[in-house]
Amino acid sequence: DARDWLTRALGRSGVLPRTEAEQAIRDGRVEVDGRVEVDPFAPVSARTRVRVDGVEHALTARVWALMFHKPVGPVVHGSDPEGVGTVFERLRAVLPPELKGYEWYAVGRLDRDTTGLLLFSNDEHLVRHATAPETHLPKRYVARVEGAPTEQTLGRLRMGLELEDGPTRLAGAALREPDVVVLTLTEGRHHQVKRMLEAVGHPVLTLHREAVGEVVLDVAEGTFRTLTEQEVSEGL
Ligand code: URA
Repeated sequence: DARDWLTRALGRSGVLPRTEAEQAIRDGRVEVDGRVEVDPFAPVSARTRVRVDGVEHALTARVWALMFHKPVGPVVHGSDPEGVGTVFERLRAVLPPELKGYEWYAVGRLDRDTTGLLLFSNDEHLVRHATAPETHLPKRYVARVEGAPTEQTLGRLRMGLELEDGPTRLAGAALREPDVVVLTLTEGRHHQVKRMLEAVGHPVLTLHREAVGEVVLDVAEGTFRTLTEQEVSEGL
């Protein structure tokens, strides 16, 4: 079992979010194998016995992942000039107490005006794997655009375009309505969908992500559900 340090293990095991865990450790509220441990970086393993405020917790890292239906507004990363909040705050607001203790990491990003499927996990290895460019995890977007793309335009999107940061990989592209394009990408560059559609003369009006890997969004806007182990192991 992988070695870990105390604050991170507490966060990943759902005992306390990392920042709170660090304070609890410094305050002397955490015992490791029967003695108070005040070093947040003390090494631990899944077999370490940990008590917080006298209550024993298991540090077995159960992999948890969940889907969140992101509404328009909150940011995933970066500054929040209008103060509408982050997706992390929105997610925490709807999580039940038993899931609030985890440290949740977003799998990739969505622009603040993009809606749809945003995956979260408390397992940094899973997040790293799912977001690594080499994984080529397909992401399916639905874009309402200006104008009505032709079959020839869809062909250009599929074959790859030259953008200012290099050529795009092969993509899936199909029309769902005359002005609604379904685009499936196996990469995730900054504003990529918007830049690709802009490059073929069809600026994006609204953008929604409906699937990542085999995981398809099926919850209402602003709500979440946990993924099954099978969805995580086979879908991502
Ligand atoms: N491509 C974009 O342009 N925006 C997103 O939010 C996701 C992909």
